[in-house]
Amino acid sequence: MKIILMGAPGTGKGTQSNFIKEKFNIPKITLGDLLRSKNTIKNEKIRKKINLIISSGKLVNDEIIFDLIKKRIYKKDCEKGFLLDGFPRTMKQAYFIKKEKIKIDYVIEFFMSTELIIKRILGRKIHIPSGRIYHSIFNPPIKEDIDDITGEKLTERNDDNILSIKKRIQEYKKFSKKLIKFYIKENKKKNIKYFRINTSISILEIQKKIKEILL
Ligand code: ADP
Ligand code: AMP
Repeated sequence: MKIILMGAPGTGKGTQSNFIKEKFNIPKITLGDLLRSKNTIKNEKIRKKINLIISSGKLVNDEIIFDLIKKRIYKKDCEKGFLLDGFPRTMKQAYFIKKEKIKIDYVIEFFMSTELIIKRILGRKIHIPSGRIYHSIFNPPIKEDIDDITGEKLTERNDDNILSIKKRIQEYKKFSKKLIKFYIKENKKKNIKYFRINTSISILEIQKKIKEILL
């Protein structure tokens, strides 16, 4: 099962990726996490450059993205399937998937109002080592700012500020229209199955919808 999860920042992709990964036993490939990780971007100079781009809310250039994707999806654990979270974001990235002859089964698009996106992102707290995602109001940890499982401190992403959020939403709007059109066409040709979910509902309700699609 090969799945693409699309959606503007803050629509709940990471939260549901964690669920899909566990439920369907497939690895999740989260581009944002790969770009932020010291393990994948070993060169400090390049990592600093990437951090600056991420903080500004712009997209990282394709060469870096394609390199990361190639290194990840051809690993053994991806043989039976994987979930792509945050890739593709542009038509060039969608063509890359075609060129690599990767057969995607499902594209699920999350959507929500901009107002709610901002509320969701501004309360986001993350546990970096595990990828667990919380929200200070909507999905709080048991103890404030502490990961439920490890007891370690939660952090905020440094691009989760209003300026960067607005830029990221703008970038998403700029690139996603063509991408969505493309996948709707692919759906008509029966090359993939395309679904949309309004993610302004609860985490559990979204999980239910995902199960209906994938089971
Ligand atoms: P994305 O990966 O699309 O940027 P996240 O999964 O990180 O989005 O979610 C953004 C924020 O919204 C997080 O703080 C998360 O806890 C919270 N969140 C995710 N889904 C829901 C939901 N259905 N209801 C309320 N809050 C949610
Ligand atoms: P995310 O964690 O998905 O919110 O992504 C954080 C940031 O990483 C984005 O704002 C971009 O700067 C960068 N990024 C993530 N995925 C991609 C991608 N597919 N192409 C280019 N840049 C990306």
